[in-house]
Amino acid sequence: MDTIFHKIIRREIPADIVFEDEHVIAFRDIAPQAPVHVLFVPKIDIATLDDLQPSQSEVVGHLALAAAAYARREGFAEDGYRIVMNCNGDGGQTVFQLHLHLLAGAPLGHFGT
Ligand code: 5GP
Repeated sequence: MDTIFHKIIRREIPADIVFEDEHVIAFRDIAPQAPVHVLFVPKIDIATLDDLQPSQSEVVGHLALAAAAYARREGFAEDGYRIVMNCNGDGGQTVFQLHLHLLAGAPLGHFGT
């Protein structure tokens, strides 16, 4: 697998990286949909949520915990935020390496309205 996110992980293209550990990298979305829009990407190759294996359940846990920790660190956890994971075409996925969107910084409204 070789997506734009793999190139960011390998530092082959620039990104505004806000967090990284051994499992996860997080960087600002190039086309933000909210005042805060950060992508949390696992370093292990997984194309979509549909490809996640039961033995890899901790991967999503790492992404969610990293996003929650970032929200607390940046001081908007109590105001609130949204996390989104798009899967395949109808889900709006455009980059086929698993990732979690963190959106915050303004009232986002009730999802689906
Ligand atoms: P998806 O639609 O797959 O759920 O989300 C992919 C996201 O990656 C989009 O929100 C898009 O704006 C973002 N994106 C695409 N290419 C780049 C890039 O080169 N750099 C960064 N930082 N974000 C990107």
